Amino acid sequence: MSNAADDMIPLTLAGDGASVNIEGPRTTTSLRFRRSPLASPEEQIRQLEAVDLAVGPTQSGNFFADVSHSGWPTLKPAQLDIFQINLGKLCNMTCRHCHVDSGPDRTKENMDRATVDACIEAIEKSGAHTVDLTGGAPELNPNFEYLVDRVTQMGKHVIDRCNLTILTVRRYQHLPAWFAKRGVEVVCSLPHYRKLGTDAQRGDGTYEKSLKALKMLNEVGYGQGDPRRKLTLVTNPVGAFLAGNQASLETEWKDALKKNHDVSFDTLIALNNMPMSRYLEWLLEKGKLDEYMHRLLDAFNPSTIAGLMCRNTLSVSWDGKMYDCDFNQQLEMEIDFPGEERLHVRDFDLDKWLQHNIRTERHCYGCTAGAGSSCGGAITE
Ligand code: SF4
Ligand code: SF4
Repeated sequence: MSNAADDMIPLTLAGDGASVNIEGPRTTTSLRFRRSPLASPEEQIRQLEAVDLAVGPTQSGNFFADVSHSGWPTLKPAQLDIFQINLGKLCNMTCRHCHVDSGPDRTKENMDRATVDACIEAIEKSGAHTVDLTGGAPELNPNFEYLVDRVTQMGKHVIDRCNLTILTVRRYQHLPAWFAKRGVEVVCSLPHYRKLGTDAQRGDGTYEKSLKALKMLNEVGYGQGDPRRKLTLVTNPVGAFLAGNQASLETEWKDALKKNHDVSFDTLIALNNMPMSRYLEWLLEKGKLDEYMHRLLDAFNPSTIAGLMCRNTLSVSWDGKMYDCDFNQQLEMEIDFPGEERLHVRDFDLDKWLQHNIRTERHCYGCTAGAGSSCGGAITE
C-alpha cells in the first residue's frame, strides 16, 4: 500500500469559496468519506434513471436503444488497442468533478504486486500497443515504477495520467526525468489555463503547483514536439457545459501558457464531464442534472459510436476486475463475458473479450455528446 502518510503529501481540500466568483464545482471530500448515498453506484444509476428524458433519437432516454436506432444493433469491441489500469483510488487531491471519488482517505484501494503481475501477463496476451495508467494518482501506488519498467521493456507505449501536483511532492520530484528516460507520455489534467478556473475545481494553490510541475516537465524535454517526450493536457468544463472545440482551444491554450508562463505542451484534449460520482452530486445540489442530461441528449452524435473508447480499451480495476471503461468501473458494471459472466484479469482471454457485449447506462450519453469524449479526447472533428 502507498506510504502517503509518510510522504506528508499536502492535501488540497476545500478552498475559500467566498473568494471565487465562478459557477462550477469546488473541491470537496470523497463521497465515501462523507457517507453520501451517492457513494453507491446503484444510487448514481437510480438518480440518472429518474430524469425524465423524452429526447434523443428514440425519445426513450435508453442509451442502447439510441445506439441501435443509429445503425448499431449490437455494441461490441473492435480491437484491443489500449490496456488501461486503474492502480487505485488514493489521490493527494479531492477535485469536485472527480468520477472516481478519489482522495487522501482512499488508502485501501490500491493494486497489489500479484495483480500488477497478472496485468502484465494479460498485456502480453492482449496485443494492446498502449498501457494507460490512471487512478487516483497512479504514481502513489508502490508498484507504479515496477509496472512502468516492465511494460516499457515489452515495447509498449505507456501513458501516465498525472494530476501534476503530485510531481511537486518531494518523493515524486524525480519522476519527470525518470519518465523522459523511458519515453512515457504524460497526460496531465488542468481544468483551465487561468488560475481561477483551475483552483475553483481542484482547490486553492493547485494552479501554481501545476505550473511548477509543467516547468519541471519542460526542463527535461517534454512539450517540445519530441514523440518520446509527449506532454498532453486535459481540460474539462467548469460547470454544466459540454467540452468546447478541441482544436481551437488547443491554439488558445498554447498561446496563453507560452505568453504568460513560458510553458509549452504538445496536445490538448477536451473531455465532457460524466454525470456520475462527485460531478453528479454537484449537478444534483445545483438542480442542474435535468438540464445537463438534456444537453447531452440534444447533442447526441451517432458518428461518435464507432470511436467509443469501450470499443478499443479494456479497463482493469485495482482489484483485477475487468470493465468496458473507467466509467463503468466506477459504477461497478463489470464485463459480462459470454458463458462466463465475471472474470478476473488473471483469466483474461482476448477472444472472449472480442465477443462480449458492452454494458451501457445513461452516463454513456457523456461519451456521445457533441464531438464525443474519450480518454483520448474528442472522437470526431
Ligand atoms: S480528478 Fe484526478 S486529481 Fe482530482 S481527485 Fe480525482 S483522481 Fe485525484
Ligand atoms: S461510458 Fe464507457 S461504456 Fe459507456 S459509451 Fe462511454 S466508454 Fe462506452
